[in-house]
Amino acid sequence: MPGRLQNRVALITGAGSGIGLESSILFASEGAHVLLVDLNLAAAERVAALIQERYPNVKAKATKADVGKEADIKAAVDLAVESFGRLDVMFNNAGIMHPEDDNALNTEEKIWDLTMQINLKGVWWGCKYAIQAMRKNPTDESKGLHVGGSIINTASFVALLGAATPQLAYTASKGAVLAMTRELAMVHAREGIRLNSICPGPLKTPLLMDFLNTAEKRDRRMVHLPMGRFGEAVEIAKGALFLASDESSYVTGTDFKVDGGLSSCYVTAT
Ligand code: NAD
Repeated sequence: MPGRLQNRVALITGAGSGIGLESSILFASEGAHVLLVDLNLAAAERVAALIQERYPNVKAKATKADVGKEADIKAAVDLAVESFGRLDVMFNNAGIMHPEDDNALNTEEKIWDLTMQINLKGVWWGCKYAIQAMRKNPTDESKGLHVGGSIINTASFVALLGAATPQLAYTASKGAVLAMTRELAMVHAREGIRLNSICPGPLKTPLLMDFLNTAEKRDRRMVHLPMGRFGEAVEIAKGALFLASDESSYVTGTDFKVDGGLSSCYVTAT
């Protein structure tokens, strides 16, 4: 059985941890050659080595890039095309939630700007260079390869719901990811380039668990989770795989929620 991403090339940002790590492994298991991009090169290299060991039929490469720098993103997309010949899937996933991000009164401008630089501009640049590359994708019908591709941008459930515990810059950046992705989806739909956002619920990854570092903080959130648990990064990766593959060939411009029902439910503690 060919994999769902057989012969495809995927670039994943934030590939060294959490959602990016699980997505890199899952995409490779489905036949994709993967370029793993992270600020933490050692972490991305460990994931690439693991993939090479488990799936010797695909190629995995790691590279260091800061998605908050346009030149780094351009270089990463160029590297994917030079290394693997094309770019079919761009997963703009890297993001930060800064510990000093707070409410309107307390958030410093430098924290706001840093958050926007990485979470929003980084996604814009990822889209920009991926679109340019996808327009040039060689077509090979025998291998099911076409011009165009799938771009997936990681937003968050806080782009859909206000959170009582503020992280204003983060929330605003993720809301903007949704708006930007919808518009790009409309602009590039006729080129065979699909763009979707994925909205994870709260997950058991370092990004959130470093922040929810006491039982009290975790319990406060748990009350709101219909399934009574945090999500796992691999559960988001499975949603991303759907959006990356041809199984979602008629899906573009969505805010794809993988949040355990959080944003659809009114939950009470008792
Ligand atoms: P994580 O902290 O486990 O992993 C993030 C990875 O991104 C790390 O390897 C880190 O080194 C890398 N990274 C950080 N800044 C970077 C930069 N400037 N350039 C390149 N790489 C960078 O996080 P995660 O939980 O897997 O989160 C991934 C995405 O999911 C983020 O966009 C986050 O906002 C979003 N998200 C997470 C949750 C959650 O609960 N964890 C919920 C909703 C949305």
